[in-house]
Amino acid sequence: MSNSNLHFLIIPLMCPGHLIPMVDMAKLIAQHCVNVTIVITPRNADRYAAVLHRAIASELPIKILNLPFPASEYGLPDGCESVDDLPSFNLSKNFFDACSTLQKPIEDMFNELKPAPCCIISDKHLPWTFDVAKKFRIPWVIFDGMSCFTQLATHNLCVSKDYEQLTDSDMFMLPGLPDNIYMTKVQLPGLFNPGSSKKGKELKSVREGIRAKELEAYGTVINSFEEMETKYVDEFKKLKQGRVWCIGPFSNSNKNDLDRAQRGSKDSMIKNDECVKWLDSQRDCSVIYVCLGSLTRLTPLQFIELALGLEDSQFPFVLVVKGGMRTEEIEKWLDENGFESRIKGRGVLIRGWAPQVLILSHRVVGAFLTHCGWNSTIEGVCAGVPMITWPQFAEQFFNERLVVQVLGVGVGVGATRVMHLEDEAAPMQVTREDVCRAVKVVMDEGKEGEERRKKAKCLKQMAEKAIEEGGSSYNNLDRFIEDIRAHTSKGVVS
Ligand code: UDP
Repeated sequence: MSNSNLHFLIIPLMCPGHLIPMVDMAKLIAQHCVNVTIVITPRNADRYAAVLHRAIASELPIKILNLPFPASEYGLPDGCESVDDLPSFNLSKNFFDACSTLQKPIEDMFNELKPAPCCIISDKHLPWTFDVAKKFRIPWVIFDGMSCFTQLATHNLCVSKDYEQLTDSDMFMLPGLPDNIYMTKVQLPGLFNPGSSKKGKELKSVREGIRAKELEAYGTVINSFEEMETKYVDEFKKLKQGRVWCIGPFSNSNKNDLDRAQRGSKDSMIKNDECVKWLDSQRDCSVIYVCLGSLTRLTPLQFIELALGLEDSQFPFVLVVKGGMRTEEIEKWLDENGFESRIKGRGVLIRGWAPQVLILSHRVVGAFLTHCGWNSTIEGVCAGVPMITWPQFAEQFFNERLVVQVLGVGVGVGATRVMHLEDEAAPMQVTREDVCRAVKVVMDEGKEGEERRKKAKCLKQMAEKAIEEGGSSYNNLDRFIEDIRAHTSKGVVS
């Protein structure tokens, strides 16, 4: 059976940190001549249209299965089809419930997809897709958008449970990892540290359900590459009978500036935008790019500390501002404080969506201040710049440890605890002095700074090679396809 007779059905979670890498993954798989259908909803089809249609026009075998999303039936605003569109993260459960209604239409459409799909690659946060795979007797492969470091740390914590006996602030060593990594309980992801709110507790049971289902997956595809976290990949593979395929970094599949600019939003700015012109006028490796992902909404007080810390550092910067329901207060401060006029020429604010991968690939970016979402982390690695780490929620403290301690390419800003997205009043954790100090340390031209930059450049080169023909991720993708082909030919039931 040749690759052109294989067909993978990709079912993403409608959230930028999940949908963006899964669109990239669809392109990578299609480049290996496997047919791919990606399930999407109308607003997302529009948001990702430019990138998807360009890929299809280039004759990649990608199809789009566009299904209506019942937002209003689940108490969500009309047209709210992505987690970053939620007016409040207290509506997360409503969103997940609305997603699960896609099961029936997918099943109804399944037999019309040609050739018949032989594998589902689903976001692990959609556990009902397991039932679709079971019904059609095909393997259920999961994508959960995290590193092997996180996978292994999560598995070991689930097994050992030692952390349960600790107080919030006790430092402890994460069990069973190849390196000695220390954390506190309040830095752990929600599965182990749900917070005290009613919503947090409600989400804990959702997370436990996802975790239980995850264990039944046929295999896991990972947006990472083996050279970056070799020991963690090896250990995780042992746990999963080898059915772990690191096939990233996905963002490197965007080879031209238009794809980089429109990744995650068709409206993202392009070449002649003011910000890009400003970047073009800066010195090489001098600019700090600051973006805390698609979901983080800093409180106004915390935002002010970040902004003033950047100003005090004296380095040029690009700061992405996502206020959500806090936009008005943040804008009021910006206006009354005269911040923008003071930083004119030295700093740029981007309100809303930034073309992150495009900016990161610019020669002038010297460091990336990131919230350590996994996509941003690996995009920082691909950019070959050192990172200033400010983890916010989920597994982001794990990613910080990987970047700072294992890879040696980051400096922590000093965040001490996970913020739960559903807790609307988050305590302030990081001062302007913390931000200014971390920027200065990372940009330092002394021996330590140079060493960090050297390691970052070396990782960038490894990342580039990994997805090129003959690279580790390219070969892993071939092995993954081969595994599914063998499974399909044998007619084995998942
Ligand atoms: N992103 C972007 N522009 C923005 C914010 C985010 O392009 O203004 C992209 C970013 O490049 C990454 C994804 O959105 O691919 C965010 O995923 P990540 O895992 O870093 O964090 P999350 O948004 O899930 O917290």
